[in-house]
Amino acid sequence: MTIDNKMPKKSDICLSVRFLEEDHPAVFGNLTLRPFSSGMDIIKQVRPTRLEWTYVRNLEFLNQFKEHVPVVVPTLNTVDGHARSFDGDPIVAPWMKFYGSPDTRFLYICQNNPDDLQAKIDIAKYYIREGYTNFHFDDWYCNAQMFIFKNPCFCEHCMREFSRYLGIPLDYRDYLKSRGFHDLEQLLAAVKFDHVPLWRDYINFQHESVTRFFRRLKYNLDQAYPAGTTMSVNGSVNSASERIASIKNSIDYFDGETKSIKPESLLEVAKASRMEGKMQVVLICPDEHEDHDRNTEAWKNEVRQAIALCYCLGMLPLFPYDVYMRSDKQGKPKPRWYGTWEEYGQPFEIVRQHPDWFDDYEFENMNLAADGTVTIVSNNSANGSALKHQIKPDGTWCTN
Ligand SMILES: [Zn+2]
Repeated sequence: MTIDNKMPKKSDICLSVRFLEEDHPAVFGNLTLRPFSSGMDIIKQVRPTRLEWTYVRNLEFLNQFKEHVPVVVPTLNTVDGHARSFDGDPIVAPWMKFYGSPDTRFLYICQNNPDDLQAKIDIAKYYIREGYTNFHFDDWYCNAQMFIFKNPCFCEHCMREFSRYLGIPLDYRDYLKSRGFHDLEQLLAAVKFDHVPLWRDYINFQHESVTRFFRRLKYNLDQAYPAGTTMSVNGSVNSASERIASIKNSIDYFDGETKSIKPESLLEVAKASRMEGKMQVVLICPDEHEDHDRNTEAWKNEVRQAIALCYCLGMLPLFPYDVYMRSDKQGKPKPRWYGTWEEYGQPFEIVRQHPDWFDDYEFENMNLAADGTVTIVSNNSANGSALKHQIKPDGTWCTN
């Protein structure tokens, strides 16, 4: 009997082993990744109930992880997308400029390109055949995201679909060229002054392209596995509402990089998670522009407190391991963050001992004292009982 196809529950213990030295030699040319044996060591220490968001494709490794973890969530991202700029060039996201090797850059997908959709379906089917039916999708806001990093897709599929969207025969790229916009730079300069015809329509259309892509993907995955797959994306449930609206109906939960782990910020995410009815997995992602130095005791304390707060607020913190640390000023990825069980294990052990505190209770309110101690009261609506969680700034956690 399969034990896959499970939605996260509030007492889950989540770990991500993202990359393996043996499986991803070409991913980060300038970074040291950890080997399979390190991944297995941290799994045996943390004893996660879910291995979230892993790029491990090698089934030999994945199946060994799965022997120890009930739910394993592979990622559907690919590296050979077909988005095309206004100038006709393949598109590389700015944060991926230094990934891979110079001749194997990771090319951005176009969500209107049938081959790019099919590539995801094919990967999912590969995993489904092997008994993996829960999936993660990193970097999912593609066709809308390309406007944000100022290189929207103008491929033939976007042109065809935009014509259909407008209901008139039109190749938008040819049309813009005929109106005197000869290259991307010139086009973007005119966008600033709102001088580009149909630009707002094009943005709206590409936003809808994101929605349509996920609807089709989810439909195909559920066809391939009729008992139902689950899908998470890298995002926060309280990010811009138009983002959330674009995929809400096709995804089951969020698993997102979270920069601010202050109690008030986590409370905002928790409220949105409850309002939208979508679980939030919180990937604590230090922001070194905010002086988050992961090697200091102050940071470790803050993270321990944040882990406890996430659980008490009904969210799931990822154990901090194999964490993307963004890029340096040249755009090169920084060394990844590998937290240890000794540093961060304590709050997870409390959850393991008392799953009912989380599965059976809903947070009622949160109070932040002047000394940084956070008190969260949660209620069990079934029996009327209440819990008071107190978490000190160093992460010391007491519940009664
Ligand atoms: Zn396109």
